[in-house]
Amino acid sequence: MKNSVYDVVIVGSGVAGCFTALHLPKEWKILMITKSSLEESDSFLAQGGICVLKDENDFESFYEDTMKAGHYENRPEAVREMIMSSRAVINELIEFGVDFHTENGKLCYTKEGAHSTNRILYYKDVTGKEIIRKLLARVKELENVTIKTNTEMIDILCKDNCCDGILLRNGEEELEVVFARHTMWACGGIGGIYENSTNYTHLTGDALALSIKHNIKIKNIDYVQIHPTTLYSNKKERRFLISESVRGEGAILLNKNGERFVDELQPRDVVSKAIFEQMEKDGTEHVWLSMMTIDDIDVTKRFPYICKRCMEEGIDVTKDLIPVVPAQHYFMGGVDVDLNSHTSMRHLYASGETCCNGVHGANRLASNSLLESLVFAKNAALHMNKVDKYTIAERYNITAETSREDRLNSMSKWSIDKIIEKYNIDLTEYEDYEGYTQRKKDAIWAEINKEKRKK
Ligand SMILES: Cc1cc2nc3c(=O)[nH]c(=O)nc-3n(C[C@H](O)[C@H](O)[C@H](O)COP(=O)(O)OP(=O)(O)OC[C@H]3O[C@@H](n4cnc5c(N)ncnc54)[C@H](O)[C@@H]3O)c2cc1C
Repeated sequence: MKNSVYDVVIVGSGVAGCFTALHLPKEWKILMITKSSLEESDSFLAQGGICVLKDENDFESFYEDTMKAGHYENRPEAVREMIMSSRAVINELIEFGVDFHTENGKLCYTKEGAHSTNRILYYKDVTGKEIIRKLLARVKELENVTIKTNTEMIDILCKDNCCDGILLRNGEEELEVVFARHTMWACGGIGGIYENSTNYTHLTGDALALSIKHNIKIKNIDYVQIHPTTLYSNKKERRFLISESVRGEGAILLNKNGERFVDELQPRDVVSKAIFEQMEKDGTEHVWLSMMTIDDIDVTKRFPYICKRCMEEGIDVTKDLIPVVPAQHYFMGGVDVDLNSHTSMRHLYASGETCCNGVHGANRLASNSLLESLVFAKNAALHMNKVDKYTIAERYNITAETSREDRLNSMSKWSIDKIIEKYNIDLTEYEDYEGYTQRKKDAIWAEINKEKRKK
């Protein structure tokens, strides 16, 4: 079994993972891993846009919209932190080369459900792809970052409530030990445990399952957002999302008689509920979305990706109604973290959709998640750089006089037997990989159901 040592190991290559890497000291040795290819993260799928505090006068309204959508179960200080940090983060994205739609040199803002004003920046209908491609390009330029694809974290190395790194399964299906002073979980959501989801199927809440296994605090695990409008299909595949900004621009929802049945710009949970009720009433497997009611803009230019995908299914959105159905979309709960994205276990951080910092409360306001992922991933990186000088090497009495680098290197010389014994690792647990994966999913479902029963 290979054994290596890094300053930080980042699990996940979406916006949260990349933004962490970009804010860590350049002299630190960093490993970033992703379970699949670099192009397969939900960050690539974000269509609608990213919120920003448009101007100081918008603070109260942005705050209120976020809290109201979250049924006031949000953590006020986290919401404030996100909003107040938003302009700086957007400016950084622009410096990193991210393009947002502009007119006459000025940024344009769009609107989605439950926003009381236009405050969402966007790039066509592929905002996430635009952001993550530019961030990944910057991360790849960093000489201190090693990226490994098709590499999965299968467990963490922990002792005395302190995380000392991870156990990974590489592309050759071999196990490797990675020691790290700090571990960042940026593993995305849990859509992969659902039958119908807009998420990539490999996003199976692995960090959540490991939290359950190692008694790391989790929060709001039953808070799952269902997106009202995904393209209806009877095939078993990831559900294609029809962004809320389509409704923001004037698209409407219709029942089987061609009648409107809901205010389309209410929060997602309210619209999804209305659709499910309508489907039951009508005895249909979906309702219909009309983009023909969008005035003033050329939908093929504003929503090229959606138009193209619908056309592949034989639907011309300028003439035809689109069959849509709600599907699992976003996970508001997750690994419980503070405003620095620190978990209840020392030296273990979590950011992005994997964590629950309280921003979203019981329901996420549209286009707040890319922003939240970026703001709190940056906070984590800055915090790692600031925290105590306690290192894993010091815990095992490796002389404190030696340099950090020497200390880390001495860890890498440990025998595998010593590592297994120190961390109480049972290798037989991972032998049946499929079984292990299924057990992790089952553990998450058991927790979700337990939480639901309490209510
Ligand atoms: C269709 C769709 C549209 C969306 N639209 C918007 C929008 O318009 N605006 C908005 O703000 N948000 C939107 N979202 C939500 C937003 O895209 C996500 O919340 C955000 O991108 C999450 O980023 P992340 O870095 O946390 O996770 P992700 O981008 O999902 O990345 C997760 C990473 O973790 C890796 N990983 C997971 N488990 C392991 C493991 N065990 N070992 C190694 N690697 C692992 C994955 O391979 C991946 O690289 C949308 C989501 C979807 C699905």
